[in-house]
Amino acid sequence: MAGLQDDCFRIGDELLPFDEGLKILKDRARVVVGMEAVSLREALGRVLAEDITAPRDVPPHDNSAVDGYAVNFNDLAKDTETRLPVTARIAAGHPMDRAAERGEAVQIFTGAPVPEGMDTVFMQEDVALDGDHVILPSGIKPGANRRKQGEDVIQGDVIIRQGQLLRAQEIGLAASVGFGQLKVYARLRCAVFSTGDEVADPAFGEAGEGAIYDANRYTVSALLTGLGCEVTDLGILPDSVAEIRSALQDAAPGHDLIITSGGVSLGEEDHITHVVQSLGSIDFWRLAIKPGRPMALGKIVDTAFVGLPGNPVAAMVTFMRIARPLILALSGRRDADPHVFRIPAAFSMKKKAGRREWLRANLQADAQGTMSVHKYPSQGSGILTSMVASHGLVELPEELDGVAKGDLVDFLPFVEMTS
Ligand code: AMP
Ligand code: MG
Repeated sequence: MAGLQDDCFRIGDELLPFDEGLKILKDRARVVVGMEAVSLREALGRVLAEDITAPRDVPPHDNSAVDGYAVNFNDLAKDTETRLPVTARIAAGHPMDRAAERGEAVQIFTGAPVPEGMDTVFMQEDVALDGDHVILPSGIKPGANRRKQGEDVIQGDVIIRQGQLLRAQEIGLAASVGFGQLKVYARLRCAVFSTGDEVADPAFGEAGEGAIYDANRYTVSALLTGLGCEVTDLGILPDSVAEIRSALQDAAPGHDLIITSGGVSLGEEDHITHVVQSLGSIDFWRLAIKPGRPMALGKIVDTAFVGLPGNPVAAMVTFMRIARPLILALSGRRDADPHVFRIPAAFSMKKKAGRREWLRANLQADAQGTMSVHKYPSQGSGILTSMVASHGLVELPEELDGVAKGDLVDFLPFVEMTS
């Protein structure tokens, strides 16, 4: 992969603060995927690969915001009503074939172009008809009920930037200036493994004695899919050097990223780190975080490698806060930092200073609508029910040694970290 140097994730042996780790990832990871053209219908969740410049104004002409009567403001009496002949009827999609003359009114419908020589539209409900004349009340403002040409988009403006995630509104905006297809980045090809002799696939029936069902391969695959990746599920690796080695070796060539969970500690049965080291390079990241240690980042030939911790909550949280920024950088995304909301804590707790900590938490509004954030009672890194029951993460910075009720804390909604 052209975007990653061999030692791209090398950070030394220090316990690394989270922000520094994140900065290293962002500085060193480059987009590794190619580009392709997709139709608007296929564009949802993709990443725009070039700036979009508007080839026309939107709206393309001044048009009526209401059903009613268009006039030239200068034809209106100041303090009394005005009586004008109705000379034409203009519906949306059917512009008048001539410029308006002074002293006439035209019946106009929402979205129809305001004729040249007219500037102001009366709502149907505000006027009275008298045969083929319309009686217009005084007091309207010049330009009322007229949507100006270019009030949304001006021709030549860059309206969507390269690196933008395409949501419904970006797709709609691209359509509104006439794009039928868009140049997007190819999806990042990701291979997902779980590791551990104890881990069993729930898709293959009942787990045996001493086994646990594989949660991580399903959470990680779903998270990757949510980020727009193309996911290859490569199953569960036993705690065996030979099998891990051949599986990773086979997976590397066809993928931009290999992501595993479990097996990255320094225990005797934790082989992932050594295998990746022997096939490429690995950096064992001793991040000062909770939950989440340990995790590993590295490279096998041209394929990035992320080893997530085995505990299911730790795997998800480190994915959201560490793997996600890397994946998005490799995928061409920009400006993907989650929005952080400062909310008063409804809890108090002690915390070890010197590390960043994430809590699963819920937002609640009181009768006055004031928000507060509630810590989920079980915070163990294997308690996956805490993720299901929560709205997001409270992120506590390194320097804090505790939280008192009412302190403002940083809250990151899950929705900010799953796309
Ligand atoms: P490890 O990092 O391999 O020591 O795993 C840490 C803990 O996470 C152990 O209790 C494992 O059983 C558990 N674990 C590892 N992988 C998974 C998985 N795919 N799904 C659920 N739990 C797992
Ligand atoms: Mg294990």
